[in-house]
Amino acid sequence: MRNRIVLAALLAVVCMLAGCSLKEAVPESTSAESTLPPETETTKAEPPTIEEFPQTWEEPTSEPPEEPIEGSKIIVATDMHYLARSLTDFQKGFEYSVDHGDGKVMQYIWEITDAFVEEVKEEQPDLVILSGDLTYNGEKESHEEFAGKLEEIEEAGIPVIVIPGNHDINNAQAAQFVGDTFLGADNITPEEFEEIYQDFGYNEAVSRDSASLSYVYQVNDYTRALMLDTCQYERKNLVGGMIRDDTYDWIEEQMEEAWNLGMNVIPVAHHNLLDESEVYLQDCTIEHSEQLIDQLESWEVPLFLSGHLHVQHYMRSRADSGIYEIVTSSLSTPPCQYGILYYGDEGSFRYHTKSLDMKGWAKKTGSTDKNLLNFDEFGKKFLSKVFYNQAQDEFKRLDTFQGLTKYQKEQMAKVYAELNAACYAGKVVDIRDKAIAKAGYKMWEEEGYPSILAQYLEWITSDGTKDYNVLSSE
Ligand code: FE
Ligand code: MN
Repeated sequence: MRNRIVLAALLAVVCMLAGCSLKEAVPESTSAESTLPPETETTKAEPPTIEEFPQTWEEPTSEPPEEPIEGSKIIVATDMHYLARSLTDFQKGFEYSVDHGDGKVMQYIWEITDAFVEEVKEEQPDLVILSGDLTYNGEKESHEEFAGKLEEIEEAGIPVIVIPGNHDINNAQAAQFVGDTFLGADNITPEEFEEIYQDFGYNEAVSRDSASLSYVYQVNDYTRALMLDTCQYERKNLVGGMIRDDTYDWIEEQMEEAWNLGMNVIPVAHHNLLDESEVYLQDCTIEHSEQLIDQLESWEVPLFLSGHLHVQHYMRSRADSGIYEIVTSSLSTPPCQYGILYYGDEGSFRYHTKSLDMKGWAKKTGSTDKNLLNFDEFGKKFLSKVFYNQAQDEFKRLDTFQGLTKYQKEQMAKVYAELNAACYAGKVVDIRDKAIAKAGYKMWEEEGYPSILAQYLEWITSDGTKDYNVLSSE
């Protein structure tokens, strides 16, 4: 017990130093990546008493498009957050980070990555695009090991292109899990990023931006990918996204050139172009993104791809016109999915998601691990547990919840876990009406103020009116 108190205190201190307070950096601490608990108190969470959770999303219903359109088949994946195997000893510190994190299945990150590599080879796309947060916290060893995995895809004749996410470069949180705690590990500079991933975009670039790690990649005779580095890592690593002034000028040149050549451009960034989440805006949307939206709209760009949010989502810049943005959810967070994008030579597109077939992979590789052999079930339970913990941590953090009984808190934590898991999968629409009718949900409405989780639930249910896993534009 004492060790765990020390660990919690230590994590809390690191968390404060990193500035990942719930309000400031929510994409990283609640809906995305921080593995550090937001609370600053030194008491430890009781092991949650959860029995059975309701199914949080239906089995994949997203139908693949009837017939591929003339153009390219592109696999889009993001936020895999790979951790080198040697950087964890699977002891308490690692366990705590996983169970009180943001839902990344770090305990199986190696199996997830291997299954992804195999599935990509089977899918035989023309290109794989990875839009940042390639590593857990930017550890050098994680980058090098992950680049080795990407090499396997390229050896099968499938090109892979990457850009960095906010976790990948100059990350002071790069660490190795040891026992109850963690020790600092080597991180990488922007130059090292370009070096490690030279075969995954940088060496093949048609054009390289001198102000950032952005570049242009020729997809086919009619289409180019504009790979935008939106990360801030000079001097200090920041969570939020921005585009440098010089990069804006470079983008303009690139757009003009592509226009003159009659080519389509698919911009890809780690951070979001549009305000995809009404609650967690700061640090998610690219700063002053109106400038980028105007610029891309003026060149009639139909589609923008991003990640970072860990939530499956899409939006359009205007009600019935403008640019679409598709945010693909994190590959390492259940339902562990990626996007399949058919991009037409005329700029039309069809997108749908596909969950990794972990069960199939486990069978094929002769695994005896029960969690892998029942990964759908395991993933759902795991995610529910993590989000249940998030709610319970919030109850401890805010005085406003002190008057509630243990049973009431349980009801609330369960409905939060259920809705948030469905939100991550882009499938709130499947459970929305049932969830809203539950007593736990009503308690969030009545007792939840001023918790950000209450606001978040309100947004989830008002936004969850459609399936965010399928989108097409002709
Ligand atoms: Fe991420
Ligand atoms: Mn991110």
